[in-house]
Amino acid sequence: MSSERRKILPLDKSVVNLIAAGEIIIAPSNALKELLENSIDAQSTQIEVMVKDGGVKLLQITDNGKGINKEDMPILCERFTTSKLVQFDDLKSIATYGFRGEALASISHIARVSVITKTNEDSCAWKASYKGGEIIGGETDGIKPVAGKNGTILVVEDLFYNVPSRLRALRSHNEEYSKIVEVVSKYSIHIENVGFNCQRQGGGGYDVNVRQAASRKDRIRSVYGSSIANNLIDLDIEIDDETRENYGLVSCKGLISNTSFENKKTIQPIFFINNRLVVCDPLRRAVTSVYGTYLPKGHRPFIYMSLTIKPENVDVNVHPTKKEVRFLNEEEIIELIVDKINDILKNLDSSRIFMTQQILTNTKRIEDDIESRRNKRMKINDYEKKTETPKLKPISQIKKLYEHEMVRSDYSQTTLNQFIKAPNNTVKEQKPMTLLSIKTLREEIESHLDDSITKLFSQHTYVGIADYKKRLLCLQYDVNLYLVDYGSLCYELFYQIGLADFSNFGVIEIANENDEGLSIKKLIKDEIYGNEEVINLFKKNLKTLPDLDTAVKTAFVDMKEMWEEYFNIKIDASDEGNPKLTSLPLFIEGYTPSWNKLSLFLFRVITKVNWEDEQECLGGILRQLALFYVPDMIYDNDNEDENNSNEEAKVKLRNVIENIVMPVVKSRFIGTDALRGDVIEIATLPKLYKVFERC
Ligand code: ADP
Ligand code: MG
Repeated sequence: MSSERRKILPLDKSVVNLIAAGEIIIAPSNALKELLENSIDAQSTQIEVMVKDGGVKLLQITDNGKGINKEDMPILCERFTTSKLVQFDDLKSIATYGFRGEALASISHIARVSVITKTNEDSCAWKASYKGGEIIGGETDGIKPVAGKNGTILVVEDLFYNVPSRLRALRSHNEEYSKIVEVVSKYSIHIENVGFNCQRQGGGGYDVNVRQAASRKDRIRSVYGSSIANNLIDLDIEIDDETRENYGLVSCKGLISNTSFENKKTIQPIFFINNRLVVCDPLRRAVTSVYGTYLPKGHRPFIYMSLTIKPENVDVNVHPTKKEVRFLNEEEIIELIVDKINDILKNLDSSRIFMTQQILTNTKRIEDDIESRRNKRMKINDYEKKTETPKLKPISQIKKLYEHEMVRSDYSQTTLNQFIKAPNNTVKEQKPMTLLSIKTLREEIESHLDDSITKLFSQHTYVGIADYKKRLLCLQYDVNLYLVDYGSLCYELFYQIGLADFSNFGVIEIANENDEGLSIKKLIKDEIYGNEEVINLFKKNLKTLPDLDTAVKTAFVDMKEMWEEYFNIKIDASDEGNPKLTSLPLFIEGYTPSWNKLSLFLFRVITKVNWEDEQECLGGILRQLALFYVPDMIYDNDNEDENNSNEEAKVKLRNVIENIVMPVVKSRFIGTDALRGDVIEIATLPKLYKVFERC
């Protein structure tokens, strides 16, 4: 046996003594973590995990790493044999995961372990099986040549076969398996340039499957889904020399969720310290609590963070499975991280970031036009019949019987200027409005002010949504109940906000999978030009469809500066023939438009906006934007799957209307005569009380 080929050496006894208690494998996922770390240490680029019965029956890891020399195989599972550490000093500068040569030994005492391995230099693979730390069949007969690729297959079978108490203490196979998936998932996020997959033997496909070339964001997307991946911000804390020297913190990087990330589930933060998956409760608590001030109540962040700390400052032996870590200057380091995250989140306050959902095309859902608003008003009349209330009058005709009881306030004083201090623009400096056209449009609203409607909205008590398809909500005002077409209400509200906040909007950033925005042409082409039903609807009013290339150039590429300056609609026209939309205006903090209508909005811009006249152009764009931001109608469906997603959409909308839209309506909305047909009294409480008294 050539000694230079021998890489795994027994550790010196003195080193052994310096190392705290041995690893204890308490669950299959602990064993898996060790095996995974070994494969990563072996410089693999592809690691595949196969599991049976929650890892109890089988845990198999296949990697394409360096492999193990045949000469090292006899002592592979001996305690304190490692190829990674020779002296105690090495402990201080250890760069690899394992360094105690204990994992395989421990596992081989409580399971049947076998290895098939091949190094680059070997012409065939070698196979050996172990029991109680020793090779079965002895050093010479126990190692058999087999066919195999470069790398190592480590097979662990019948875990805890000789430790029945531990076996009994395990959770169900499913639970143990999900712990394994969790470990693989987390490493697959952290370790770039390595492909990972994990599956159950004989089960339906991969539960983790991350491509070798995937970016970190894509890794997160693959494991946790798009809603997380689309809401991430980079964390990269600059560490000055002083911090490095005094606290031993070398780097802190990661990806953390932004303030628009809507999530009520707890996702345990993922911490890697010196490339090792760890648990660090003080850090977890501190980092999660920063989000408390920025997220709505009950919402939780996603946190992935990788710290490098001088190895001599890290104590990994606190916990037998090496998961819980302690490090020197913990408080100072945590404070530094928390401050930085706080800064980042604070600066996000005026801009909301999220990505597009899949854009659905459905003619039913996009016939959101002025005509259909009229139709809806007719539908409200249908609704009136059903509700059997004897007299239904638009609010404007209602005699204000109880007015003497109400607190008086002078609504003629309400002007659009009150909008200018929009809460979503607290950070940005307000630009003064110098455009006469916008001033004129604002005055136009004020000239249509309707006192009674304004009063109703500013003093209402919100009751709830009455109809998702007809977009009706119910309000109480004084002793009356009203049905309000919230489609129309939002349309007017967003138009007003558009005028009031003109050129001072917050921003909604858009990014697709490749972080490059959405192709305007593609959206119009795929969803409008390519959709016969939609086109037929439009052909009724339009003689010919405009040439897409020219229209997009005129309306978007040539007007790029205007879009950005006035509307915060950023267009990336670096490829002139294919401009991309990268942001939209934020009208109300926390409110995002439905992507279903984006293509329709773009199409309306190229067909309905008059580019010849400033006032008509800007007003037209604001009208189209308002229409785009109106919430979708939600249809009930026969299809059960779709119904479930409808239920989800309803819950979401309910929350948005009640907590985001209506408070703004209450504080800022100016009722105009345009809404007269959209507000209908359905009952007065005294009459209702009489009905109940009779019962
Ligand atoms: P440690 O990782 O602490 O060194 P282990 O018991 O986990 O101890 O592994 C013992 C040795 O076996 C490692 O040092 C390494 O040389 C070798 N080894 C284990 N798994 C692999 C693998 N997948 N590829 C290459 N070598 C491996
Ligand atoms: Mg190891």
